[in-house]
Amino acid sequence: MRSKRNRFWSQDNRFRLMLTLGLAILLPAAALICVNFYHLKSIQRDKNVEALIQRDFQYALAVSEKKLNQKAYAMAEDVRTLFPSPDDSESDKEKQLDLILAKSPWLTHVFLFDKEKGMLFRSQPQQLSDKYICREHDNMTESFNGWFGMEGKMLVEGMHKKSRPLSWYTSETKRADGENYIATAFFPLPTVSSDRVVLGGASFDPVYLKQTFFPQTLDELISQKLTEDKAERLTMMVYPVESESGQEYKPISTSAGWSKGKPEVMRKLDDVFRGLALGIKFQGTSADAIGRRFVQQSFLILGALSLLMIGGLVLTYRSVSKEMALAHLKADFVSNVSHELRTPLALIRLYAETLELGRITTQEKKDDYYRIIRKESERLTALINNILDFSRIEAGRKEYDFRETDIAELVRQTLDSYRYQIEQQGFAFEQSIDPGIPRVRIDREAIARALVNLVNNALKYSANEKFLGVRLYRANDRLKLEVVDRGIGITRREQSKIFEKFYRTGDPLVHNTKGSGLGLSLVRHITRAHGGEVEVESTPGKGSKFVLSLPLAATAGQ
Ligand code: ADP
Repeated sequence: MRSKRNRFWSQDNRFRLMLTLGLAILLPAAALICVNFYHLKSIQRDKNVEALIQRDFQYALAVSEKKLNQKAYAMAEDVRTLFPSPDDSESDKEKQLDLILAKSPWLTHVFLFDKEKGMLFRSQPQQLSDKYICREHDNMTESFNGWFGMEGKMLVEGMHKKSRPLSWYTSETKRADGENYIATAFFPLPTVSSDRVVLGGASFDPVYLKQTFFPQTLDELISQKLTEDKAERLTMMVYPVESESGQEYKPISTSAGWSKGKPEVMRKLDDVFRGLALGIKFQGTSADAIGRRFVQQSFLILGALSLLMIGGLVLTYRSVSKEMALAHLKADFVSNVSHELRTPLALIRLYAETLELGRITTQEKKDDYYRIIRKESERLTALINNILDFSRIEAGRKEYDFRETDIAELVRQTLDSYRYQIEQQGFAFEQSIDPGIPRVRIDREAIARALVNLVNNALKYSANEKFLGVRLYRANDRLKLEVVDRGIGITRREQSKIFEKFYRTGDPLVHNTKGSGLGLSLVRHITRAHGGEVEVESTPGKGSKFVLSLPLAATAGQ
């Protein structure tokens, strides 16, 4: 009846535990994991990381274009201040323009257009031997002359309205090494009134642009601004917009580390370098790869966290179940112990009262009664000693009194006081104590109690074949105390558990036999306190062998 109720109680509690764990931890945790999982999936699907990188890149390109323009503007503005007045003599103007060219080796041509006086177009003298540059000189003279002749007035008026009175014209030009890009700035002169159609101009040397201006500015940008807080290094290139339509990108210039490949993000340049585009990408990786890596890492972290959480749950479940099982065992223990106390007390009282009434006449019967009273009180003492020892151990107050002892003598004495009981219960008893066992430092009372517990168990848990064997012998540097029975035995699974406090096996004989489940846990505590260990070998239905193994040296040296 009790056990049924207990089982019900335990199932009920288990269910409640599962419900609490489920509702309080598992459900929110699972929800969190799911939300994170779907969030990551959406990041993966919508390529959010890549989009972020691209936004970043667009910003970087805008900043870079601004910087390129600023530099070109500043250079052209410097040149503008050096221009001669259109009213100087032709030779003075020529001289002044040649001086500008000499001072600014990064220019290929400079020119001064005056609607009234015509075009004065000068080129770097040493470059004019190059037939391509010579042709470029002629072409540009002609085309600017024609253009300014027709639209010069409009251009001057337009530029005077701008905060920086400068305009740019970028075009392709042929040089010995193939297609090149030449950028020309033109401007009204600061000293000339705005109603005169006078324009100065300067063309940046394509080789300078390609080899110095672009690479240097891009490198500067990358090393100073753009890579400040990025783990991956960036790289940029300038290329003609038309080349983008074909698969091949033909860069004009690149910053360090471009190697090859197409840009992650591009920006068509306006104003100064119209017709060119700026491209950006990572050195050695791509936004795609970074996005993929981010998602992969996040999934891994999520996986690891989920595992940790599951591990935590399993641990919590196990420790709570253990606590519950212990509470269950304790409840059993209390009822077992009270039962165990009540039975001998009732017997003692019954026999004592009978003796007191003087109804027993034969001495033999009286002796029987006395023996029963003594035996029951011995059982009571053993039980109370176990409980006291146990509570001391639990409270951490158990102390051992180690003294040099003749352990063979101790075992003999302890068994002698049990011999009668053993034989009376119909047990065949074999005792074997090797001669020459050395004296050892032990706690007499504790070792005797351990032995009594083992012997009691052998007597309690034997059904058909009643045999008890006790052996004390020396094996190398160990002292072994063996207690053997041919009783019900213990399954392998339960062998590791029987030394836990309150644990009792599920055998029906155990169920019907009084016990507290404390004996073996005491035996183990006592042996360990002596620096030894207790082991069990057992086969269900065949019997058990408990062996206390005490180190000789350690025990002697305590
Ligand atoms: P108790 O005997 O009071 O129940 P113990 O701690 O001494 O407590 O033993 C724990 C359990 O181990 C017993 O309940 C029993 O199931 C099992 N056990 C102990 N000794 C033996 C033995 N010699 N043979 C079979 N089972 C045993």
